[in-house]
Amino acid sequence: MPLMAEHTHARVSGAPHDVTAIVARVERYCAEHGVAFTPMRRRVLEVLAASVTPLSAYDLAERVRQEKRVSPVQVYRVLEFLQGAGVVHRLATKSAYIACYHEHGPGETTVFLVCSGCGAVEEATSRAIQRVLKGAAAVSGFKPLHPVVEVEGECAACQRH
Ligand SMILES: [Zn+2]
Ligand SMILES: [Zn+2]
Repeated sequence: MPLMAEHTHARVSGAPHDVTAIVARVERYCAEHGVAFTPMRRRVLEVLAASVTPLSAYDLAERVRQEKRVSPVQVYRVLEFLQGAGVVHRLATKSAYIACYHEHGPGETTVFLVCSGCGAVEEATSRAIQRVLKGAAAVSGFKPLHPVVEVEGECAACQRH
């Protein structure tokens, strides 16, 4: 797709990441908004940030539970908060969540490249796609607020196998 060539920066979400950096971003967000960074919020974020593949609220509830059970409903609430803080994305096609390691500009179009082999997700942003989407939406007078494109395929590593 020549459209993606010039302005696309792919960043691998599946690679090991600096979890402390993303935790620090939420600490800043909480301080700025006067809300609490509860142990539960921190724990969900840490588990998600350490995962190489997207996790559902049910997966997260299982992994976050320590001595006490955690319900998926509790996890959903935390995920909503983390999405608001800009550190988590929801993948609609998978009903699953991934941690986001970069700060997006307002209305920036996010392109998720989802590998159907290993489940890894790469995140890319593209101004070209953003322009095309806006134009297509404008035809019907539609205003996109959270433009997200999900593309299923095979990652570079899986193609080599
Ligand atoms: Zn992102
Ligand atoms: Zn793969």
